[in-house]
Amino acid sequence: MSQITNDFSKWYIDTIQKADLMDYTPVRGCIAFKPDGYELWEHIQEEMDKRFKETGHRNAYFPMLIPESFFQKEEDHIEGFSPELPWITEAAGEKLEERLALRPTSETMIGHLYSNWIKSYRDLPVLINQWANVFRWEKKTLPFIRTSEFLWQEGHTAHVDEEDARNETMQMLTIYKEVVEGLLAIPVYDGQKTPLEQFAGAIDTFSIEAMMKDGKAVQAGTSHYLGTKFAEAFDIKYLNKENKHEYVHTTSWGTSTRLIGSVIMVHGDDQGLVLPPKIAPTQVVLIPVGPWKKNPSIIARLDEIFDALKSEGIRVRLDNSDQSPGFKFNEWELKGVPVRIELGPRDLNNNQVLMKARDEADKVSVSLEAVVESIKQELETMQTRLFEKAKAFYEEHSHTHIDTMEQLEQHLQDSHQNGTIPGWVLAGWCGENSCEESVKEKTKFSARNIPFNRPAPKQTCLHCGKKAKYTVWFARAY
Ligand SMILES: [Zn+2]
Repeated sequence: MSQITNDFSKWYIDTIQKADLMDYTPVRGCIAFKPDGYELWEHIQEEMDKRFKETGHRNAYFPMLIPESFFQKEEDHIEGFSPELPWITEAAGEKLEERLALRPTSETMIGHLYSNWIKSYRDLPVLINQWANVFRWEKKTLPFIRTSEFLWQEGHTAHVDEEDARNETMQMLTIYKEVVEGLLAIPVYDGQKTPLEQFAGAIDTFSIEAMMKDGKAVQAGTSHYLGTKFAEAFDIKYLNKENKHEYVHTTSWGTSTRLIGSVIMVHGDDQGLVLPPKIAPTQVVLIPVGPWKKNPSIIARLDEIFDALKSEGIRVRLDNSDQSPGFKFNEWELKGVPVRIELGPRDLNNNQVLMKARDEADKVSVSLEAVVESIKQELETMQTRLFEKAKAFYEEHSHTHIDTMEQLEQHLQDSHQNGTIPGWVLAGWCGENSCEESVKEKTKFSARNIPFNRPAPKQTCLHCGKKAKYTVWFARAY
């Protein structure tokens, strides 16, 4: 049995360590991003940032410390976040008059400021995003997926009315879906969160949910319609065209470095990391093989290929260290580099190179004349192929035939006995919190979202058997 199916958590930690993406630090739950790990985030940032700006948003920066009193202004918000807040109680040797929290998210600070910045309908909409670190003191941590400090972006917008704010909420969810599917090659289910799972202080929360190779879900991005709740708490009012005061409608939306964890858990295999070409820090590695040191024309040809790829904007490395080819192959595979090119004296005589895609078993020979074109083509093909593979996997493990708790429990028992992953279950839900809680208690399956596009609507509640109001994806989640 492969390690990935046998012991997924061990496989995950081994994979990120062998790929040199991160390191642990003496601060519990806080990791260091090493350059190859951080660059994954940079590519995600670049694409997201471009999309945000194309849709009229601008970046700003807000303080990391938030006064305690700010949290008390919005009841649900403090209730949701207070268990995870780290506090600063003294500075420069003196006790502070008011405790300061390390931000878990910035609705309160930004709400406070927007109440000064927004005066008239002419000031709206306010479309601001922040790239920042946030803190949530988690009991159980897992690198990239759940850490006490993590990196993210948080968008905070203010609008004249509900319609405008709701359009914004959906627009950002669509951008998240497009980036996660297009750039990270991760298929997602988009939909609405149930009240129990939504953001503390939101009216409605929407999410995209991704399936990892162990069948568990990762919430890959969320977009919240906050109504006038934060506007009322922080007194964010504007004068409308009739010269009357009205509360703004706000939204917030976020994605974080857990996307890196998702990439690893969706695409990785028993040989280690597999990276979609679009975000790979190194997209192509060139490796001389055979008695190449005696034959200077080998490195000369590889240098030419290197320059040609570089001028095409492709991130390429030439590995001419004195390690054996076998060692190098293994090392670059562990790092998930999408395409490897091998060139030795015999290949040179045949006017060809060998090309291997990280996710395919066989090498193919490519003529030296066509090598740059072939590599460009393969990077594109692999990007699509990884998405298709992940999609086939999530479809295979998305179960739509389970309608009762007995069936769910049987399904879990069968998966356990057969050593297969339980995956996700599409089931009916009556809308009662108690049913949702009870499913979670008994099976650890939580409501992921109420999908916009569902295979088939369900008639009865998975738990109580009464008429279903919603059709929900249930799954174990990170
Ligand atoms: Zn029910």
